[in-house]
Amino acid sequence: MKSEVKNEVKREVQSTSPLKRVKSEVKTENKTVPRVSRNKNTRTLSSPFPKYKLPTPAMAYRALRELESVHGIKKKPTNTSNSVPVLDSLVRTILSQNTTDITSARAFKQLKTRFPSYEEIEVAKLKDIENEIKCCGLAEKRAQVIQTILHTLRRERDELSMEYLHKLSDEDVKKELCRFKGVGPKTAACVLMFCLCRPEFPVDTHVWRISKRLKWVPSQAATREQTYLHLNARIPDEIKYQLHVHLVEHGKCCKKCAKNNKPRREPIPFCPLTVDKK
Ligand SMILES: [Zn+2]
Repeated sequence: MKSEVKNEVKREVQSTSPLKRVKSEVKTENKTVPRVSRNKNTRTLSSPFPKYKLPTPAMAYRALRELESVHGIKKKPTNTSNSVPVLDSLVRTILSQNTTDITSARAFKQLKTRFPSYEEIEVAKLKDIENEIKCCGLAEKRAQVIQTILHTLRRERDELSMEYLHKLSDEDVKKELCRFKGVGPKTAACVLMFCLCRPEFPVDTHVWRISKRLKWVPSQAATREQTYLHLNARIPDEIKYQLHVHLVEHGKCCKKCAKNNKPRREPIPFCPLTVDKK
């Protein structure tokens, strides 16, 4: 588990030049994922498995009902109820890559207590930023990622705010965020879904594992990126948020669905999810 986690952090936080990163992503895309194309007039990306029709909308809704029966109802935030600044959401998500929610929340709180404004983080010594976020690991790289984003915003817009993302299309938000080193597609998907309230379905390690268990992708060898593209095309927009949040929680506390069947939280007594025979 540790090495997988390390690799994931490296993949997103690794300090490669934006150009190199774009090149490597295109390479990955050609190798394992068919070229991404847009469906006509929609913001939905094409699935790499267009002939694979699972999950059907009915199956996705059923899974949500099953998860709600055990974990309760999750309310979807709306644009009006969610007033978190986009930059806060991005920084929180960068800190949360491959660490627990509790640890990343602590790091974010410490960072904002020491530096209440982004103007202060912009000019702070990297070492001082690192000290506040070291509890979530890879502090040196994460501090650099955060400060580079601030320097870029200053240079390009002369304002340390990313509220302008509200006005961009989903695809443009992804492009805008992924050009920063240390910000990958999953981080961008989380900002889109949690902060901008867009119908996105981020695929983290729990969602990926459970989707394979439920046969929502055609092969156990489906990569996380393929799973992300396929499920974004298959899961109905109205329940993307709730299903994502539930699957992540479920993956932490269900013996059948946890990694190596070892839940990291107090286990729930049984798994409510129906695994269809195929
Ligand atoms: Zn389960």
